[in-house]
Amino acid sequence: MTDYSMVILKRARQTLGLGEPFTTLEELVDQLFINAGDRAQTEEIRHSKFCESVWSHLGEEDSTESVRLAYAYARATYGYLSQDELDQATADDWEEGICSHGLTSWTCPCGCFEY
Ligand SMILES: [Zn+2]
Repeated sequence: MTDYSMVILKRARQTLGLGEPFTTLEELVDQLFINAGDRAQTEEIRHSKFCESVWSHLGEEDSTESVRLAYAYARATYGYLSQDELDQATADDWEEGICSHGLTSWTCPCGCFEY
C-alpha cells in the first residue's frame, strides 16, 4: 500500500461519508459500483456514473502501480471505461439512435433528443 493510495482512500472515505475504512483501492471500486446503482434508472446510467466516480476518486490511471491495478480491477469486474472510451461508445450508440442513457428518442425521459 503506497502513501498515495492512503490519500485516495482517506479522501474517498470523507467524500462518501463511510464509517468503515477501506484497506484497498479495490474495496473502494466495489463501493463506487454499489453507490452508482442508487437511483440509477438504467444500466447505462449506472455504468457512466460508476466510471465518472472512478475517475474522480482514483485520478490518473498510471499515477502509481496500485492505482493502475485498481483500474484493471474496475475494468475486469465492472466493465470500467475511460472518458475517451466512454465518449467513443456513446458516439457509436448515438449513430444508432441511442442516447447516453441507453435509450431511444421514444423512451428517454431526459430530453436527449429535444433540440
Ligand atoms: Zn437520454
